Formats: sequence, C-alpha cells, structure tokens
Amino acid sequence: MRRRPSDGLLPLIAAGLVISMVLGGLLLIDGVEGGRYREQSFAVTTQQAAAVRARVEQSLNARLFLVRSLVAMVRGNPELTQGEFEEVAAAAAEGISGVRGLALARNAIATHFFPLAGNEQAIGHDLLADPNRRGAILEVIDRRRFLLQGPLPLLQGGEAVIGRLPVVLPDPGTPVVAREATSGSSAGSGRVWGLAVIIIDVETILREAGVVGGGDGAVEFALRGRDGLGASGDVFLGRAGLFGEAPVLADITLPNGSWQLGALPQGGWSRQSPHATTLRLLGVALAAACGFAAWRLVRDPICLRRDVAAARESVLVSERRQSMLVESVEDYAIYMLGANGAVASWNNGAFRIMGHSTEEVMGRSHALFYPPDAAQAGLPESELAAARRRGRHSVERWHLRKDGTRFLGVTTIAAIRPGEGAGGGAGEGSGDAQPLGFSVVTHDLTQRIQIESSLRESNRRFHDIVGVAGEFIWESDAKGRYTFVSERVLDVLGHSPAELLHCAMVDLMVPEDGVRVAALLRDHASTGRPFRHEEFRCLGKDGGMVWLWGSGIPVSRADGEVIGFRGVAQDISDQKLIENRLRRTVEKLERSNVELTRFAEVAAHDLQEPLRIMVSYADLLSRRYAGRMDKDADDFLGFIVDSSVRMKSLIQDLLRYSLIERSDPPASLADIGACIREAAAEFKDIVHAIGARLELPDWAPQVPGDVRQFTEVFRNLLANAIEYRSPDRDLVITVAVKPIGAAWELSVTDNGIGIEHQYYHRIFVVFERLHTQRTHPGTGIGLAICKKIVERHGGTMSVTSDPGIGSTFFLTLPAAAADEHGAPVALAE
Ligand code: ADP
Repeated sequence: MRRRPSDGLLPLIAAGLVISMVLGGLLLIDGVEGGRYREQSFAVTTQQAAAVRARVEQSLNARLFLVRSLVAMVRGNPELTQGEFEEVAAAAAEGISGVRGLALARNAIATHFFPLAGNEQAIGHDLLADPNRRGAILEVIDRRRFLLQGPLPLLQGGEAVIGRLPVVLPDPGTPVVAREATSGSSAGSGRVWGLAVIIIDVETILREAGVVGGGDGAVEFALRGRDGLGASGDVFLGRAGLFGEAPVLADITLPNGSWQLGALPQGGWSRQSPHATTLRLLGVALAAACGFAAWRLVRDPICLRRDVAAARESVLVSERRQSMLVESVEDYAIYMLGANGAVASWNNGAFRIMGHSTEEVMGRSHALFYPPDAAQAGLPESELAAARRRGRHSVERWHLRKDGTRFLGVTTIAAIRPGEGAGGGAGEGSGDAQPLGFSVVTHDLTQRIQIESSLRESNRRFHDIVGVAGEFIWESDAKGRYTFVSERVLDVLGHSPAELLHCAMVDLMVPEDGVRVAALLRDHASTGRPFRHEEFRCLGKDGGMVWLWGSGIPVSRADGEVIGFRGVAQDISDQKLIENRLRRTVEKLERSNVELTRFAEVAAHDLQEPLRIMVSYADLLSRRYAGRMDKDADDFLGFIVDSSVRMKSLIQDLLRYSLIERSDPPASLADIGACIREAAAEFKDIVHAIGARLELPDWAPQVPGDVRQFTEVFRNLLANAIEYRSPDRDLVITVAVKPIGAAWELSVTDNGIGIEHQYYHRIFVVFERLHTQRTHPGTGIGLAICKKIVERHGGTMSVTSDPGIGSTFFLTLPAAAADEHGAPVALAE
C-alpha cells in the first residue's frame, strides 16, 4: 500500500493535542492550587498571629494583676515593712514565672523590693532621678493610671517590661506626693502614696506566648511598638524587614498603648504550593503518557490499515506471480477444470504439449485429452471421481494431442475444495466438501523416454566397446584406488575386476614405477590436466611382469575439486619385446655400419696404391708395346687401362662416400648462398659453352652444417643437370629456396631428359646408374653422396621428374634456431 503523507502526521497531531490539553489542565490546577495554598497560608498565619496576640495579652495581664495586689496591700497598710512586703509579694508571685521583681516606691523612691537579695542597692533609688524613666513615672503619677514601659534593658541584664501603677490612698487628706504631681489626674480622688512596680522578663512572656522558641516554626513573628507605641514604635523582636513584606498584623493591647505583632509564613508568602513541583512533574508525565496513548491509538489503526492493504497487495502480487509462473511453465501442461470437468484455465505448457490454444479448450470437457477408446471407457469421469474421493489422483497413461497423435504422460488431478488455494489439493481422504474444481498437471514423458532409451543405448555401447577393447578401462578415487575396472583386466593382469575394487593401482606396480605414477597422479590432480602415454610395469596375478601403457584424466566435481581419475591401460608387453629386439638389431646394425664404413675406407685407401701401380704399368705397356702385338692384344690392353682408370674413380668415390660420416657436422652456420655460388662458379665455362642458363635465387639462408659438404651437394646436382641435359633444347637450370615450417627447402630443377618414376629410389643407391658408361659416364655414387650429406644434417632428399621434360631434386634442411640469417646468392660475373 502506498503510504499517505498524513499517515505519519496524524498520530503526532493527536499526541500534540492531548499533551497540550493535559498541560493546559495542569496549569489550571496549578493556578487554583497556588491560590488555595496562599489562602490557607494566610489563614494559618492569621490564626497563629491571633493566638499569639491573645497569649501575650493574657500573660501580661496575669502578671499585671500582681501589681494590683500590691496596690491593695499598700492601701491596706501604707506603712508596711520590707519584711511584710516580701512575705506578701512572695506569696502573690508564687507560681508565676517571668517576674523579675516587684517593688514599691513611696514618693517615687524605692522603698520595698522583692526579692531583696541581690537588689539591696535598689532600695532608696529615686526613680525620678533617672531621666529615661522620669517622664513615664510622672505620667503614671500625673494621670494615675497604669503605665507599661519597655522592653528596656535591665541593670541586672536582660530585657524587661516595667509596669507601674500609682498607689492612691483612699483618704481625702493632703496628698503625700505633691512635689511633682500635677492636678487633674484621671485616677480618681485620693492621695498618691507612690508607685507599685513590676518588672517582667520579656523573654519569658514571649516564650510562653509562643512568639519565641515555640510553635511549629511555620510562622515567623516580629514585634514592634516599644513603650506601647504600636505601629510607630521600635521593632524589639524579630526581623525589622518583616514588616515590609506585607505580614499579617495584630495589635497587642497594653494598658497604655499597644504592641504590633507581625506574622509571616516561614520563607515569606510563597506563590506556589510545596507540592507544585511534584504536581507539575506528575502532570508532565501524565501528559506524556496521554500523548503516547493518543499517538498509539491514532497510529495503530493507520498501521493496521496499511498492513492489511500491504498484505492484500502482496497476496495479489503473489497470486499474479504464481499465475505468471504457471503461465510460463512450458514443460508441464497445467490447467484447471470446473467441478463438471470443463476446462477453466490453460497454460503455455498445455498449449505446447497438447496443441490446443486457450480459446479452443476453454469450457470444453477434459475428455478431449483422452484417446477415444479411453474416453469411451469413461476414464475421464472415473479419474475425476478418484480425485474427488481421495483428494489427489496420479496416473501414467496415453494422452491425445490436437493433431491426433498420442504421448505417454503423467497426469496428477487434485481436487480444490472450499478454503483451499488453487492447486492445493487435499491430502488423501481429507475434506468431505464437494470440490469447487480440479487442478491438473500433465508431464509429457516422451522426451524422458527418449533420453532413457538413448542412455540405455549409450550404456550398451559403452559396455560393448569396453568388452571388445584391447585396453582395460578403469576409474579410481582421488587417491588412485580403483572404483571401476573393466573385464579386460582379467586378461591383462589375471585379476578379476572385483578383486581390484578399492585396491590402489600403484600397489600393483613395480615399486619404482609405483612411486613415479603416485607422483604423476598427485601432479595431475592439482593441475586437472590429463596424462597420456605413460608406460609402467605391473605384476600380474601369476607374478609375471606386464608392461602397461596408460592414459587418464582427472574427474572433478562442479566446484573444481578432483575426486578421482578415469582412463585406459593397454598391455604393451609384446610391443616392448619387439621394441627391445629392434633396439638390439639397430645397435647391431649401427655397429656393423661403422665397421663397414671403416672397411670401405681402409679398402679404398689401401687399394689405391696397387691400383695406381696397375694403371701406371698398363699405361706403360700400352705405350711401349702398342702396334707390336696383334690387334686383340692391343684391345685387351686398352680394356685393362680403361678399367683401371674407372676402378680408380670408383675407389675414389667410395672413399669420398665413406669419409662423409667420419664426424658430426659442425654446429656453425653454413652460408648456403655461398655454397651455391661456389658450385655454380665451377661450371661457369661449360654452362657458357653449351649455351645453358643457370637461374639462382636472390637469397639463400644460413643453416648449421658443413660448407664443404653442402658445396659438394650442389656441385653433384649441377653436374648431373648438365650431364643429363636434353639434346633437343637449351638447358635451363633453376635453383630455388623456400621456407617450409621450421626448415628450408632447396630445389635444383632442370629441363633435361628426366627419370622414370620407378627409378626415383634407385638413383640414390650407391653405384646405381640408369645409363651406360658409353652414353653417360659416371660412377653412380653422386646422388648417394648428396643424400647421405643431407641426411647427416638432419634433412631429407627426394626427386620428382617427368621423362623428356625435366627433373627437380629437393633437399630440406632444418633452419637455424630462431635464425633467418642469409645472404644474396647472385654470382659475380
Ligand atoms: P652418375 O651420374 O655418376 O651415374 P649419380 O648418382 O649422380 O651417378 O646418378 C645416378 C643416376 O641418376 C644417373 O646414372 C642418372 O641415370 C640419373 N640422374 C641423375 N641426375 C639426373 C638428371 N638430372 N636427369 C636425369 N637423370 C639423372
């Protein structure tokens, strides 16, 4: 399925929306929670401030009540002694903490003190003499009302508030204290006796009220309004800055003014609740989780849709491929039948094998493909019934082509039932549902039958050949152990093929040859090349030695690894016997030839001397007695002289012939052009005299050999061409050169009398002549010498001739290795 661009975005948009919504909700909750927290915090602070204020007021009042008791006591007994005072004060202050002292000051001079111990110096102290307190004291006396001053630092250390209450006696007499008092006081009538004073430890009061060192520490307090001045007074407890941070304010009412209590939550007014961070983190996590869930919720159906579409597409592709595959199969006829046996599909293979086109068979009964006799016998129906019954039915039988010919083929009919794919025939006995149709696959066996037949024929041929072959045929594994040996081995080695199976071939050989052949097999296994004409000796079953001549080829697997060998071996024991005999004969011949040559040489040499004497004396006899004897005697003497001369030439030629092979030809190069030139120069005069033409090649090669002997060859050939020229025409002699493979062919052609075909070989034999001495004098050894010289140089000599037309003598000489040196041949005039 093609992926739409929106498919990837939609889940992300959904996730984004959900995350935004959750975060929005979170912000809202955070705002509400912050507000709620601030309100709660304010309420708690206010509540604590109110409680503290109440406790401070209560605590002060409780202590100030003591002063009132003192006033009552003085009013009852203005003349009370220190002792009485102390006793009453102790009783009154018992159980009340924070009272640093109680005092009476008659006429503003300290007269009584509790506790006296440690405060003796205070007795007699004129309170009006202290400028810091004078104003306050006068105000008490003047206005006759309770006045609280402080907190003040005490001489004894610490801070305290001092409460002063005027002691006014009830009688209307003259006021005792008149020195300083002003009239018009609001304390009612009576005479001012003095002052009752209480000194209260501030810290104790504030601690009891929970302002200092008490509470849960959640609220911070500060107090201002020293000397009861309220909001305008000094700050005497806590941070002065607290009052600038919008604290909760509570006025602590004093008898003559107020203190102001400031309260703030610890750390100030926080804008957010302490749980805000946790709440936000949880909110973000929740938003992420909700976003992810939304992404999955939106994405999964898209993926699912896409996967379903992709799966559908892949099924379609697969079906298309399958159908194309079926279509393209050519070796099998594949077609579908409906439930009633009518053709529903037809592939190329069916067309190729059966001959019907698709249009011709579609909708027609499959009985069309059965030979008429089979169709009439109801085979088409019975085969479908079998497939219907068992799910699948296979049969090998004759089929009918469109052109009426028949072929043997294998057909498999498979029933297609509901829920099964095409061609997915049920197994035997499976499924009771009626088939929707049938798939049919037919394979034409004709080709297979032909191949099997030709294989059988080929096997038979192989066995026949193996049976009659002179060689035995063998196969071995890579280590040279026989895996097959033909019957012939029984005749050759005396072992049956069965006896030789798995036996290493080298074990049958004489050790020396076995080692050689084992190395040979290893070599050829590594190169993969065949080996040919190897000779080796084996020991037959009877212990006799058998010479074998074998060839073989490595057998490789498809990956190139050599897995064995196969080859042939031939018994060459008889040949070897003949060969040995031949070699011995040749050696004998060579020896006798050497002896013969030696004999000819010696004979020719030794015969020359008596012959020369014979010739000399015959000549002397002829000259001295010619005409003095009768005619016959003269003739006889003439014969003796001629024969002696001829014998002399024969012996000299024989000596020349025998001397040819005295030594090997030299390895140095002989210039053939120079040899031809030298030989031709010797006949220059006669050629001129008889009006002959001598044609020489422009160029001739250099070949390894004897210059003198090559010159003699050309001398003999040119002499013969002149000797055996035709009387009917001018002589033309042509010497030519041409390369033939790795050799040079030199030829001497004349237009002389020619030679009969049957004498071609005779003329090269020593002393063989085709003419008499009278017509053509000669010894008959010239050509024999030529042939011997040429053969000694590794060449050959031959002749072709037409009697009455002319002859050509050919000599081939091996060319010098990698050499084409040569020289012009033209004769110097
Ligand atoms: P000779 O020439 O001495 O007889 P050769 O060995 O040279 O001996 O020749 C052998 C024979 O070959 C000759 O007697 C001759 O009959 C024949 N023969 C040689 N050369 C030619 C030639 N060019 N044409 C015809 N016959 C030839």
